[in-house]
Amino acid sequence: MPQQSHKQQNNQNILQQLGSLSLWPHFIKFCTIPRPSKHEAAIINYIRQQGEQHDAIVEQDTIGNLLLRVPASQGYEKIPTIALQSHVDMVAQANSQSAHNFYNDPLTLQIKNGWLSAIETTLGADNGIGCAAMLALMTDNSIKHGSLELLFTVDEEAGMGGAFGLQKGWLTAKKLLNLDTEEEGEIYIGCAGGVDIDSIQSPIWQSPPDAQENREKPEAITISLTGLLGGHSGVDIHLKRLNANILLAQELLNAAQYHHFQLHSFNGGTLRNAIPREAFATIFITIVVP
Ligand SMILES: [Zn+2]
Repeated sequence: MPQQSHKQQNNQNILQQLGSLSLWPHFIKFCTIPRPSKHEAAIINYIRQQGEQHDAIVEQDTIGNLLLRVPASQGYEKIPTIALQSHVDMVAQANSQSAHNFYNDPLTLQIKNGWLSAIETTLGADNGIGCAAMLALMTDNSIKHGSLELLFTVDEEAGMGGAFGLQKGWLTAKKLLNLDTEEEGEIYIGCAGGVDIDSIQSPIWQSPPDAQENREKPEAITISLTGLLGGHSGVDIHLKRLNANILLAQELLNAAQYHHFQLHSFNGGTLRNAIPREAFATIFITIVVP
């Protein structure tokens, strides 16, 4: 059997095991359509087709977000319109030994210990399952609802481009449910938001100290601060975990009160949204040899 139909057969088996919930066929379809951030045309096309087949008004804004205006079920016309939103792109990560091509290949799915996952790659349940739930509201006639505005945004994982570029005044609903969340069964009613700050300073450059003839010997020393807990800057920020960058900078400032040294380099943290667990500084300091 060729590779492609193997995968189709596998997906069919998976679908049977997942049961009859009407979001599953949409989610499995999502797993067959590559959708890394900034490469969402194919998945947007699938959602557009679904909208057109189910009598929704389909609109797209200039940044690429898609809006399906879904009419109310019969008898539910008086219910206020609700907007639901999910992002269509996914974090595309594969194990180092994998030959998976995220721009062409469908995911390979498995069910293990009751959990659906993708073999050797991310699954993209963030936020594919939210998209699938929104589509199910539209395509499953047994679900009764008022009029809906289903907003599918692009480029969430690589800079929130879709959200930032969202067409002004597009939604008419007074309430919006964002289906991109962490905990099942919980609803968030607010968010602190986040800010990226790029700070550029021009330091005063100096030469490292020269070796002296006397007993003073300049040395380069690297100070490592490691072993902190780290965490997510959004989810764990209230836990008062130490930030390696701040801690090491404070220690250097402290030490500068008692010792003269020059800072050669300072590095810490790996991601903008992770609390830094490690920081490293290299300094030049003159040691007096006894
Ligand atoms: Zn997400």
